[in-house]
Amino acid sequence: MIAQACFQDWNSSNGYPVTARSTDILVIGAGPVGCVTALAFARKGASVLLLEGNPRSSHRLAGECLHPTGVHILESLGLGDLVGSGYQGHGFAVFPADGSEPILLQYPDGACGFTCEHVALVSALRAAASRHNFIDFVSSGHALAIAGQRVTFADENGQRRTVQADLIVGADGRSSLARASLGLKDQRHYVSSMAGVLLDDVQLLHEGFGQVLLGGPGPILACRIGPSKVRLFLDVPPGRMEKDQESLHAAFEPALPEIWRGAFRQALADRPIAWASNQRRSRAHYGRPGLALVGDAVGHYHPLTAVGMTLGFMDGYYLAECKSFSDYRRVRTAQSGAAELLANSLYRVFTQNDVASLALRHAIFQTWRHCPVESRRTMRLLSGEETDTAQFHRAFVRVLVQAAQQVLQDSLLSMDWKQTARALKGFAWWLGWLATGEAEMSGEDHTDSVAPEKSKLKKVLGSLQRLQGTKWL
Ligand SMILES: Cc1cc2nc3c(=O)[nH]c(=O)nc-3n(C[C@H](O)[C@H](O)[C@H](O)COP(=O)(O)OP(=O)(O)OC[C@H]3O[C@@H](n4cnc5c(N)ncnc54)[C@H](O)[C@@H]3O)c2cc1C
Repeated sequence: MIAQACFQDWNSSNGYPVTARSTDILVIGAGPVGCVTALAFARKGASVLLLEGNPRSSHRLAGECLHPTGVHILESLGLGDLVGSGYQGHGFAVFPADGSEPILLQYPDGACGFTCEHVALVSALRAAASRHNFIDFVSSGHALAIAGQRVTFADENGQRRTVQADLIVGADGRSSLARASLGLKDQRHYVSSMAGVLLDDVQLLHEGFGQVLLGGPGPILACRIGPSKVRLFLDVPPGRMEKDQESLHAAFEPALPEIWRGAFRQALADRPIAWASNQRRSRAHYGRPGLALVGDAVGHYHPLTAVGMTLGFMDGYYLAECKSFSDYRRVRTAQSGAAELLANSLYRVFTQNDVASLALRHAIFQTWRHCPVESRRTMRLLSGEETDTAQFHRAFVRVLVQAAQQVLQDSLLSMDWKQTARALKGFAWWLGWLATGEAEMSGEDHTDSVAPEKSKLKKVLGSLQRLQGTKWL
């Protein structure tokens, strides 16, 4: 294959005046995933045209933590220097709201992720793409329309150009034009808002670990992004508070460690808050032959598990490896379900305060504290190393059983049957979620693989129901 796409005259079929050309691969969007996808194809010898419609998009509040699987992909693309310029991440430290000791969740086998300011990460990736001989990077190239294998875009002078590509890749984020061109419904759901606050001159409580702090209206994620800078991502669930400095301060300060409070107050006073909207769209559609979607254009979740870029890098990397579109879709569908289930369930467990969710949260913390096998499994799922949804189901049903057993014990002691009824309703919701989640994400049936745990859960729930029934009769 040749390195540079070839220019040729071409009569426009859509009325745009064109200077047209053809290329092997046309990537729409030079966010983190578009750049990685372009580099993965270029590494294979394909000619790539990479279009970015908004060069300033990288300045928004977005991903700054990358799991080890994402790091391996960057390294295999020759971007070891970029990884070296960030801050090593060995895992996460979770701070429960009750003031108990933090729980350290470490990536298995000494694996390392990294953290880095979003704009620095994307700038470095764009620079690497621009340097590559096989990639033609148009830094002001806004894609306007897709017809078959042709993409029309406006260049920096507003001139419209049409390009023919063997493969079009939609790496154009959540509001993807490529996705819309497939006639797919948008299917995004608003989850919450995220406020980004930059703290100066503070130490993380566990350097080398991302920090998850509970006790505010929503979880707080903190990570190091500079020698003296720590980013706080504050989750603001809908309808719980106003989105202004005073309200953020009042709601989140009590959840922060004492030593950060001064810097937090200062940051709120000195700088405008960066806001982002947290949305959820299941990873159900990957495109069609000739037009593949990658990254957030496929789907996305609440960023609590910081998995968006890792999943997107895996999309781009495997797309360049796969022999056909159906291979790509099959492999990535199978590999994404576990991360999706984990992200959706953890966010819900960390934000809902009904009896069942509180019992689940407690059971999860107990499991992480006292069962190294389970905390290892969580981290393998989180980092993208373990992609088998059966592993998630096993872990989740196990903590459901533990939570239900605890509620059963508490019910026997307290005889509070109203509470038991609420818990039963809550557990039923979680079981329903697990069942539909299974069907929606993977299309596979893991009933057999988790049958023992499920039957145990049924027994516990049956006992709860009987206790409750006794009272009501
Ligand atoms: C607050 C927040 C925190 C997050 N934290 C993390 C984290 O810690 N770790 C993590 O892994 N993920 C995190 N994420 C998710 C992560 O930011 C996304 O998964 C990631 O940015 C997706 O990359 P992408 O390249 O697919 O899409 P984007 O980053 O959205 O990039 C898409 C690019 O396409 C361009 N584009 C769009 N339309 C066109 C067009 N028509 N023509 C040309 N170009 C176009 C855009 O300008 C943009 O540059 C977070 C997200 C949020 C909101």
